Amino acid sequence: MQLAHIKDVYSAETAELAYTDPLTGLGNRRRFFEKVERIIADRYHDPVPFAVLILDLDGFKPINDLFGRKAGDEILSQVALRLRSAIPEGAVATRIGGDEFAVLFPMLFTEKAAQEQGHMLIEVLSAPYDVGDRTARLSASIGGALYFSSADKADSLFIKAETALYHAKRAGRGKVTVYSRDMEEAAKRVTRIEQALRRAIAAGEVEPHFQPIVNLKTRQTIGFECLARWTDRDLGPIPPSVFIPIAEERGIISPLSQLLLLKSTAAARDWPKDLFLSFNLSPSQLVDPNTGLQVLSILKKTGFDPRRLEVEITETGVMTDPTSAEKIVKDLRGAGIRVSLDDFGTGQSSLGRLREFSFDKLKIDRAFVSEILKDRPSEHIVKAILAMCDGLGLEVIAEGIEEEAQADRLVDFGCGGGQGFFFGKPRDAQQTLGYLRDSLRAGHVINDSWTTQPVTGLRAAT
Ligand code: C2E
Ligand code: MG
Ligand code: MG
Repeated sequence: MQLAHIKDVYSAETAELAYTDPLTGLGNRRRFFEKVERIIADRYHDPVPFAVLILDLDGFKPINDLFGRKAGDEILSQVALRLRSAIPEGAVATRIGGDEFAVLFPMLFTEKAAQEQGHMLIEVLSAPYDVGDRTARLSASIGGALYFSSADKADSLFIKAETALYHAKRAGRGKVTVYSRDMEEAAKRVTRIEQALRRAIAAGEVEPHFQPIVNLKTRQTIGFECLARWTDRDLGPIPPSVFIPIAEERGIISPLSQLLLLKSTAAARDWPKDLFLSFNLSPSQLVDPNTGLQVLSILKKTGFDPRRLEVEITETGVMTDPTSAEKIVKDLRGAGIRVSLDDFGTGQSSLGRLREFSFDKLKIDRAFVSEILKDRPSEHIVKAILAMCDGLGLEVIAEGIEEEAQADRLVDFGCGGGQGFFFGKPRDAQQTLGYLRDSLRAGHVINDSWTTQPVTGLRAAT
C-alpha cells in the first residue's frame, strides 16, 4: 500500500518534470501545448477567443557570449520571474526554447488587447538585469495570435504566432506583431523569392550595378559603389532592400555576395586604375569568420588589386558579433582593403565604435543629406559628423545627393566625397563604361591613364 503510494508520488513527479523547464521552473514547450490543447477542448462548443504570445529575447546571444553562460542562465531565470509576476492570473508562462518564451492568455479577447499586453511585457523585460556587479540590457520581440474558432488547433495557432514573431523581428527590435492573414501571404511571397533567388544565384543571374562616387569639390568620379540588381523571369524586378534581407535570413547571402564580388571586380578591372570599387558586406557576413578569406580568394581569382577595393559595413554588422567583425576588418585591412562605415546616423551611431574600430571612411546616410537644405538640426548633425571625422582622420562620403544645392552646401561644410542621383544613378557594367568614357571627355574622371591604355571593355562599348 505504502509502496504503491510512493510509486504514485514518484510517477507524478516524473510526469511533472517532463513538463517543466529545469532552469527557470516555468513550464516547457510540452506544457505550453498541453495547456493550449486543453483550453481549445474546453471552449470547443463555445469558442471564446484567447491569445498566445511568443517572446524572443533580442540581444541575448551577445550577452551570453560576453558575460558567460552562467550569467546567461541567470538572466533567463530573471526573465522568467519578471514574466510570472507581470502576467495576469490564469495566464501561463512557459520557456519553449533557448531564449524563447510562450505565454497563454485565456482572458485576452482582442488583437488590440494582445498588442497592449505585448508592449507591457517588452517594457518589463527591457529594464536592466543585474549580473554580478554588472548590468545587462536586452529587449524582446513578440509575435501573437488569437484563437477565434474551433478550426484552430494548437499547432496552427503556434505557427501563426511564429509567423507574427518573424514579422516583428524583421521590423526591428522590441516590436509586437499580432498575426493577420496578410502576413501569411507575405510569408509565402518570401519563400517564393527565396526559391527564385537560389536558382538565380546558381545561374549567375544577379548583376552588379555601379553608382559613381565623386570628389565633391572637383566633381570628378573617384570610384563606384556596387549595388545588386536582380530581375526574376516570373516575379519581375526585385529591389535589393527586399532580396538582400531574405538572402541573409535564409542563409544564402554568402554565395550571393561571392557572385557579386566576382562579377563586380571583373568589371572594375576595365576602369581607369585609380578608381576604386566599394562593395557592401551584410551584417550576417561579419559573423562568419570565413568572410575575409573568401573576399581575398575572389580578388586573387579576378586579379583585382585589393588596394582598389573598399568594403562598406554597417553598425548593425559591427554590433552583432564585435569580435568576429573586428577579425574580418583586420584581415581585410591587412590585405590593403579599405573599410567604410555605411549609413552613419541611422543606427546606434556609437562614437565608441568609431574609436574601437579602424575605419577608413564614413558614409553619411541619405536621411540627413536630403534634409540638409530644409532642416537646421540635420545641418548641424552633418557639420558635427564632418568635424568629428576630420579629427579622427576619416574620409567622408555624403550619400543620396539629389540636387546641386545640396552638393554645394556639403562642399561649404568641408565634405570631401559625395554620391547620389545628382551625379549618377546605378548603371550596369556596360553602361558604366559609357559613363566613364563621357566623363573622361568632359575631364570628370580622376586620371587619364585610361586614354593611353584603352581597355577591352571600352572598345566593346563603342
Ligand atoms: P546602401 O549601401 O546605403 O546603398 C545606397 C542606396 O541608396 C542604394 O539603394 C542606392 O540606389 C540609393 N541611392 C543612391 N543615391 C540616391 C539618391 O540620390 N536618392 C535616393 N533616393 N536613393 C539613392 P539600393 O540599390 O536600392 O540598395 C539598398 C540597400 O541594399 C543598400 O544600401 C545596401 O544596404 C543593400 N545592398 C545593395 N546591394 C548590395 C550587395 O551587393 N550586398 C549587400 N550586402 N547589400 C547590398
Ligand atoms: Mg552602401
Ligand atoms: Mg548607405
